[in-house]
Amino acid sequence: MTIRVLSPTTINRIAAGEVIERPAAVVRELIDNAIDAGATQIDVEIDAGGKRHISVRDNGIGISKAELPLAIQRHATSKLPEENLDSIQYLGFRGEALPSIGAVARLSITSGKKDSETWRQRVEGGVVHELEPAPKHNGTIVDVDDLFYATPARLKFLKGDQAETQACLEIVRRQAIASPQIGFRVTVDGKQKLHLPAESGDLFDSRLKRISAIMGRDFGENALKVDAAREQIGLYGYASVPTFNRGTSSYQYLYVNQRPVRDRLLLGVVRAAYQDFLGHDRHPVVVLFLEMPGAEVDVNVHPAKAEVRFRDQQFIRGTIISALRHALSEAGHRASTTVAAATLGAMQAQRAVGYSAPASSYAWQPSMPLTARDNVVPIFSPPEAMSMPEAAPSAQEAVAQAQEVYLPLGIAKAQMHRTYVMAETQDGVVIVDQHAAHERLVYEGMKAQMKETGIARQALLIPEVVELGEDAALLSEKIPVLAEMGLILEPFGEGALVVREIPALLGRVDIRQLIRDLADDLREHGETLSLNSQFEHICGTMACHASVRAGRVLSAAEMNTLLRQMEATPHSGQCNHGRPTYVELKLKDIERLFGRT
Ligand code: ADP
Ligand code: MG
Repeated sequence: MTIRVLSPTTINRIAAGEVIERPAAVVRELIDNAIDAGATQIDVEIDAGGKRHISVRDNGIGISKAELPLAIQRHATSKLPEENLDSIQYLGFRGEALPSIGAVARLSITSGKKDSETWRQRVEGGVVHELEPAPKHNGTIVDVDDLFYATPARLKFLKGDQAETQACLEIVRRQAIASPQIGFRVTVDGKQKLHLPAESGDLFDSRLKRISAIMGRDFGENALKVDAAREQIGLYGYASVPTFNRGTSSYQYLYVNQRPVRDRLLLGVVRAAYQDFLGHDRHPVVVLFLEMPGAEVDVNVHPAKAEVRFRDQQFIRGTIISALRHALSEAGHRASTTVAAATLGAMQAQRAVGYSAPASSYAWQPSMPLTARDNVVPIFSPPEAMSMPEAAPSAQEAVAQAQEVYLPLGIAKAQMHRTYVMAETQDGVVIVDQHAAHERLVYEGMKAQMKETGIARQALLIPEVVELGEDAALLSEKIPVLAEMGLILEPFGEGALVVREIPALLGRVDIRQLIRDLADDLREHGETLSLNSQFEHICGTMACHASVRAGRVLSAAEMNTLLRQMEATPHSGQCNHGRPTYVELKLKDIERLFGRT
């Protein structure tokens, strides 16, 4: 073995392995460069998930003919004039991106400064071409074709076009939020996918406009403004009220000195700030900008610059937590909703560990001995009470009173907005989402039947013909699977199916819609799911269709039946989509809402 220095191309390919892990990283680096160049408009093109073609076009300062060959040299940068890593002013500083991309793809940089000619520099798989003259452009156009063609091993690790495209779009969104004064346009496979015009106004306003454009008006309406400074550290941005939350932390946009980061420390701090308000599997939506002197933070610790290191972690942590808590508690006129949100947060936390009844029977131990008369007020009796579809006390309630049974979900008192069942429990109020609850019941019922006896079917008097076009073939393949689940289909000529029997549990459903949704589902998930999860999925879709839709008036008896069935059904606390089927407000929560405790 002899030690020898690697060729520049090999060195660049090694660097590319870290810096350019996927197409989205190319997009990130090129947009960074355009922002650093002072662009006010950035146009991005992505073809075939970025594997075939990525182009980023800006109207920034451009690169002179003399500097173009330097731009593709490793460790050549215009962004560290003093070579001082403590005061980094730009997103780039390593001079690595362009040579790395040139080593693994076909790279072409076309650039011109105002009032001078435009030139093009090409590099293909590390081979540098002669400069060539190009049509006039004020700014820079970078084209990247056949990414990783020179390193086929890397190509194999990429995901499908769809997933790579999404990752690229996500990068643009992250960067666009930080720079509302820049207009962004993204074209995917020739179609415009994102159009964000440059926003004007002060930074807070323009950021909010940009954020709303990207995340939807909802967020703007549910966001609290964060604006805090402590010593040299500033934290600005928006944080959602706790009730506006998501199932993943990917809706947390964090920036350090305008640089988008996915820093573990920061993500952990956000989680900690919301800890008392959110269940452990829910995540707030935040956009936070942390500003501090360059000497306080090292941005040069991660190849993709996604993580940073703070000089004084504890201080940063404390500053962010107190700023977020402050925003959450002192939000002016939103104070009252914040209290309600906190209460809801407490309810959600309870719900997470809340009850899920065993499959077979009641296992309820009343937490205290009950006398029906103290705790259960006669239902539906006073006419001045909430208007009810039925005025007679239900038989169930009479039984409950007589036997002094403890009913965890209480007794139905009213239906609100034809969607929610209100019930009074021993020590609080339960609000049931009738659609979600019923969906869960049907789903669990189907699962239980399938395990024990097979799903009971009901023949249709008049078989229903459903025209499906291409999807008919997709469903035809699944005829045996669907039959096991109680859905009997037969092919019916070209592009159509006939439905002969459906699961009895479904009752009356819109069969065409059900079949179409099943086809959509299969198209989307069919191949990727195991047989078992296919069952669950199909059950779920069917249950959703069978459910008592929101908007249906329920009688008192129907409402109470729903409550009793929920008590007897496992996992009835949430619907198939993970939303709660009911929430419970304890009297003491209600008292808290009114400031009585
Ligand atoms: P870095 O951004 O870390 O300096 P790059 O390899 O990304 O490294 O770019 C090298 C140099 O090329 C930059 O320092 C900059 O001078 C120039 N450059 C790259 N992209 C652009 C652009 N879009 N507009 C103007 N100059 C650019
Ligand atoms: Mg760069």
